[in-house]
Amino acid sequence: MNILVLNAGSSSQKSCLYSLSAAQLPDVPPEPRWEGAIDWTDRPGKARLSVKSSAGKPLEKMLPCEDASNSATRSDITRYLLETLWQGETKTIASPTDIHAVGHRVVHGGQTYSEAVRVNRTVKATIRALIPLAPAHNPANLAGIEIAEALLGPDTPQFAVFDTAFHSHLPKAAAVYPGPYEWLDWGIRRYGFHGISHEYVAYRAAALLGRSLAELKLITCHLGNGCSLAAIRNGRSIDTTMGFTPLEGLMMGSRSGSVDPGILLYLMRDRGISPDELDMMLHQQSGLKGLSGISNDLRTIQKAISERNERAKLAFDVYIHRIRTGIGAMLASLDGLDALIFTAGVGENSAEVRANVCQAFRFLNLELDSQLNCSRPRDLDIATSESQVRILVVQTQEDWQIASTCWRKINQREKYRLGSASAVGNGDVDPLLVK
Ligand code: ADP
Repeated sequence: MNILVLNAGSSSQKSCLYSLSAAQLPDVPPEPRWEGAIDWTDRPGKARLSVKSSAGKPLEKMLPCEDASNSATRSDITRYLLETLWQGETKTIASPTDIHAVGHRVVHGGQTYSEAVRVNRTVKATIRALIPLAPAHNPANLAGIEIAEALLGPDTPQFAVFDTAFHSHLPKAAAVYPGPYEWLDWGIRRYGFHGISHEYVAYRAAALLGRSLAELKLITCHLGNGCSLAAIRNGRSIDTTMGFTPLEGLMMGSRSGSVDPGILLYLMRDRGISPDELDMMLHQQSGLKGLSGISNDLRTIQKAISERNERAKLAFDVYIHRIRTGIGAMLASLDGLDALIFTAGVGENSAEVRANVCQAFRFLNLELDSQLNCSRPRDLDIATSESQVRILVVQTQEDWQIASTCWRKINQREKYRLGSASAVGNGDVDPLLVK
């Protein structure tokens, strides 16, 4: 079974193809047979397209893209990327009919979806209605769904896998903001994000520890350009640092994370900053980039620190402080801890961040093995054998999590195919796949 995954971000479009046995899923994520990516921001007026395929030579191309914010231009280039699956030197499958299902990462599923669903008209309308809550992502996710439908036809099943779904069982005390009660009626509550990654690394950590996920208390640290933590008990997220939007919580590459909301009122009233300017400040001019004045990339910050740049040092110190206090908050929700798990670009690669974060929790008898920490660990326990809390580095595999979720949905569906197939594809909500 060939499953195509589309993962659209605000500045990139990633995609890959997995070939899976219909009988069972492998324990360890396999390599995709084909991987494609478009970077919309590499150079002004150009889109960088790159394709890797197990079948042929890699492809690297700059395509003219006068306006990367134009959805028609984006659609054309995305379509071009997907066609390299069955055309040219990267050809991996004979024709589009060899794709049996498509899985899409959809950032915001609101309060409607607590698990992945098969896409139909209602699902598309809901994703569209949620655009105000995820303006940089949901439109790109929806565009991916439309492009796949145009290329593969309406009968190829497509699934929306939501970044919010894993957090949909947050207890009310963790989900509700202490604003006016009406906020809840307006959908203003904590949703949490990066759920696909938090869910995968929790599952993988349990497998690496040889224990059941149901018996573990875990804190997962997704530290990439965007950063968030999740407290996981019984395999469910019970607290997380991102909230109504992916702006809440930890300090990030260029996002501020949580700040005193009084600052926003002050900036608007007394400094004449408009909502759009505020948006730009909080999303693109804050975090590591804003404080250091250099870069959102931790590697650049670390190099500057080694050259005694004080703002870079301040940015790093605030970044670590926020992760430590965030973990403190997750600990309070969990009431115990079996393992602390690091993932994503920074979490997987920065031994220095892991060491600085773990240092604060030695009072829990959490002991990092400094040699293992510096050994470029991948899917490895890096705690000392005496440590009472395990510390793991797990490579996040969001695309694999999406593909395996589709596989499970299809197999679950196969069991029920008799008697209800007619509901799918006609625009009605599929009662078997939508909760
Ligand atoms: P995204 O959130 O965009 O998916 P990633 O998870 O790929 O991002 O993380 C990207 C970030 O990871 C980079 O901005 C960089 O700061 C960090 N990173 C990648 N490699 C290293 C490294 N070797 N050391 C420190 N930081 C790294």
